[in-house]
Amino acid sequence: MTQISVIGLGLAGACMVRALAQSAGPTTEVVAYEAASSPATGASGNPLGVMHPLASKDWNLASQFYAAGIEETWAWCEALGGMKAGWADRCGAVLMPQGIAEPSGGWVQPQALVTACLEDARTRLGERLITHFNARLDHATLIEVRKSSAAVVICTAGELLAPWAGGLCLNRIAGQLSWLPAQPHEGPLQVVCGDGYVAPVVGGRLVVGASFERLATGRGRRRTKVLGMQASRA
Ligand SMILES: Cc1cc2nc3c(=O)[nH]c(=O)nc-3n(C[C@H](O)[C@H](O)[C@H](O)COP(=O)(O)OP(=O)(O)OC[C@H]3O[C@@H](n4cnc5c(N)ncnc54)[C@H](O)[C@@H]3O)c2cc1C
Repeated sequence: MTQISVIGLGLAGACMVRALAQSAGPTTEVVAYEAASSPATGASGNPLGVMHPLASKDWNLASQFYAAGIEETWAWCEALGGMKAGWADRCGAVLMPQGIAEPSGGWVQPQALVTACLEDARTRLGERLITHFNARLDHATLIEVRKSSAAVVICTAGELLAPWAGGLCLNRIAGQLSWLPAQPHEGPLQVVCGDGYVAPVVGGRLVVGASFERLATGRGRRRTKVLGMQASRA
């Protein structure tokens, strides 16, 4: 058996598990480690995630990356039944202050996407998907996991990666969302984004967000540009 280990079961880890399950041969086993007692309790536990492209005048690599990522995410949401089940909606976004209508925008409930990815992976892998919850790995255990049987270790728990990040500064981010009980007609039909955003009413609540702050963690953070980040709910 070839073993691939994934650390962290937020959006990044769960999507990785599903991607591995899609391509795994019959002799591949996927082993996931999550510090919490269930998936999507970090940043991916937010009630709603807004998606919209970030266009640039020169259509630079970052813009191309976002556009491709959004299309792929919608394809996954469709394939996993998110539109039908009501945990994802490509309803479009209006980008302020220019008032640009962006049809590829919308919202996703991240916890539901995480759950759907893991269920899909379970269907494909059966007992070859092994999940460990309440399993917070430290650096020593990570090295042990690597040595024991894992052909590859994929770590989505950013801070755990710091010693191997080659000087990259992996920041946690924190922020705050607000939500209020509301009727559907009390919210917009599309996501409206400016410095923050307001989303259509989903499941009887209007979500308004989000403040955003990089939490300074790790050595050398002032010396390096931030190229990668790990999000965490405040
Ligand atoms: C307030 C706020 C609002 C946001 N709004 C949006 C939005 O509207 N749209 C959008 O696209 N993005 C948004 N984001 C960003 C988005 O939520 C994150 O980019 C995304 O959820 C990150 O997923 P992740 O899997 O990398 O991290 P996480 O979801 O944090 O998952 C990491 C997982 O690793 C586990 N872990 C950590 N350390 C260890 C360890 N040592 N061993 C084992 N497991 C470990 C954690 O328990 C956690 O489950 C927002 C973020 C915040 C904070």
